[in-house]
Amino acid sequence: MGQLNAGIVPVTPFQQNCTILFDMDDKHGVVVDPGGDIDKVLATLKDNAITAEAIWITHGHIDHAGGAMELKEALGVEIIGPHEADKMLLDNLENQGRRYGIGGVRNCVPDRFLTEGETVSFGGHVFEVLHCPGHAPGHVVYYNRAAKFAHVGDVLFRGSVGRTDLPGGDHAALIASIKDKLLPLGDDIGFICGHGPGGRFGEERRTNPFLT
Ligand SMILES: [Zn+2]
Ligand SMILES: [Zn+2]
Repeated sequence: MGQLNAGIVPVTPFQQNCTILFDMDDKHGVVVDPGGDIDKVLATLKDNAITAEAIWITHGHIDHAGGAMELKEALGVEIIGPHEADKMLLDNLENQGRRYGIGGVRNCVPDRFLTEGETVSFGGHVFEVLHCPGHAPGHVVYYNRAAKFAHVGDVLFRGSVGRTDLPGGDHAALIASIKDKLLPLGDDIGFICGHGPGGRFGEERRTNPFLT
């Protein structure tokens, strides 16, 4: 098993960080949150000779899950996650696409929903599933203890947190998810988030105005 690496492909008009997690040695990995621009995602996989074994979803918003079915068909792999509490969002993606004027969006039907405490993996890279509601009711975070890394989706951003004014949003639940589940993992945990640059939990614990 080689080192865990991550590459980001910005997708959709929301500049969402579609993330390719992969093993440096065998170049096998997963695609997290293919919200759209699937041609771009496929080209990135091809250009870097990466074999995607699965699609992992953090939550059911259009910029994260809107292109999942198209990518699933192109790659012939399963869609894993998010938590079942986001089913109502995943079933409503085509309506959202019409509302935002985004073409090619399809409702997302995961092959498997996830729950707190489960693990998902590729190669020998194991990720613990943390159910972190607040931004979306079924939002999950993928945490790799060995690599001190978490993919936090839209739960936490550098200097900010996820919005909670969308259907199923709950600000108190969001802050509790961050303070009770993410920050205790340690100051040295590096994260990638759904929009903008990633960072480290310690920096957010000390300076993020939503958490201090
Ligand atoms: Zn979102
Ligand atoms: Zn987003």
